[in-house]
Amino acid sequence: MNETSWKNLIRQVPDFPKPGILFYDITTLLRDKDGLGSVIDAFEKQYEEKRVDVVLGIEARGFLLAPTVAYALGTGFVPVRKPKKLPWQVESVEYALEYGTDKLEIHRDAIKPGQHVLIIDDVLATGGTAEAVAKLVEKLGGVVAGLGFLIELDFLKGRGKLGTYDIHSLIHY
Ligand code: AMP
Repeated sequence: MNETSWKNLIRQVPDFPKPGILFYDITTLLRDKDGLGSVIDAFEKQYEEKRVDVVLGIEARGFLLAPTVAYALGTGFVPVRKPKKLPWQVESVEYALEYGTDKLEIHRDAIKPGQHVLIIDDVLATGGTAEAVAKLVEKLGGVVAGLGFLIELDFLKGRGKLGTYDIHSLIHY
């Protein structure tokens, strides 16, 4: 499948979760066996030559992709979660939203110093979330191997916030 066929499987929902937002619903792509398989294959192809020791997924929709990408690459999976969900000692990072701030957490022992970490999420929008997670990885002594997204909203210029990291998105709007 190519970008056009993936786009045909993604449902665009206007005004969700609030007025003015066009929400890219990937559940319609994931339920399609060729859609799901070809997306995971594309991530695998992108990173198979690269050193990746562990794949990290960002709650919540990153969890729909990252563990399967990890399986394809033969690595383990690490979750980054919203506050107060992880039971063990955590490292956390706060980042700015349009209004106010948000926080994400990771288990302190989830990444070993020097490990190369591939960060996966569904959508790169303003880049605030991805930037915060990259910082979290580095706080634990990990190396960001790359940032992989299913969808990138080019007009929001999130890539600009992510400096020199290796960023790859399968679908661009
Ligand atoms: P940002 O920090 O602005 O890059 O936002 C990224 C997060 O918000 C991702 O984890 C996405 O799941 C979610 N997101 C932002 N915009 C959209 C959108 N238009 N459709 C679906 N998810 C979105």
